[in-house]
Amino acid sequence: MVIDLDRCTGCEACVVACHAENNIATVGEDQAARARAMHWIRVERYYEGEFPNVKTKFMPVPCQQCGAAPCEPVCPTFASYHTIEGLNGQVYNRCIGTRYCANACPYNTRFFNFYNPVWDKPLDLQLNPDVSVRSEGIMEKCTFCVQRIKAGEVQAAAEKRLVKDGEIQPACVQSCPTQAMVFGDLSDPESEASRLARSNRATRLLDELGTFPKVTYLQRGSWHDNENA
Ligand code: SF4
Repeated sequence: MVIDLDRCTGCEACVVACHAENNIATVGEDQAARARAMHWIRVERYYEGEFPNVKTKFMPVPCQQCGAAPCEPVCPTFASYHTIEGLNGQVYNRCIGTRYCANACPYNTRFFNFYNPVWDKPLDLQLNPDVSVRSEGIMEKCTFCVQRIKAGEVQAAAEKRLVKDGEIQPACVQSCPTQAMVFGDLSDPESEASRLARSNRATRLLDELGTFPKVTYLQRGSWHDNENA
């Protein structure tokens, strides 16, 4: 995945779409105030400058699907594992909730499901049947909407063709009004995501840790810093 920080307006449509797609409960104001907010993707805010010339910058942070994911070797039940497609998978019914993985993740993108949400009627009808409804006591995380990836692969196989570039879109990518996020096959050098990942604006979050994140951030262009000059 490639996220263009120059395009992100911080609207959080990606966060809402992720909740809707992946049956993520909204924990409410009280729990959020106790630092127990639960999102598989969050939009971080950074402020630059002194009042009144303050600029706000946004950075959406989903699981970075690390190539060398620190969350994987620490899991005693192998619930956190690496798929052959390079995703950092999470097997919910193996997870016993030790939270070692969350402590090992430098990106803070794993969330402990600490309560059983109540899906009041008729809100239960909005649950996505392609995604499990998790119960308390397990770790949850972004999967790049693996259910959509699998559906795209099955559809392509049924039509006896390869998956087309851009055909599969995680909910966050699909919902972003500024198209700040691009999802694609990084093993295909011709894909849009690969092309953007080679941009001279490309950086990776905490790359120096050696986690080999698969999310590439395109830094804001320098013209932003001069726009009020
Ligand atoms: S939906 Fe797009 S523009 Fe809005 S916060 Fe997410 S990445 Fe940024």
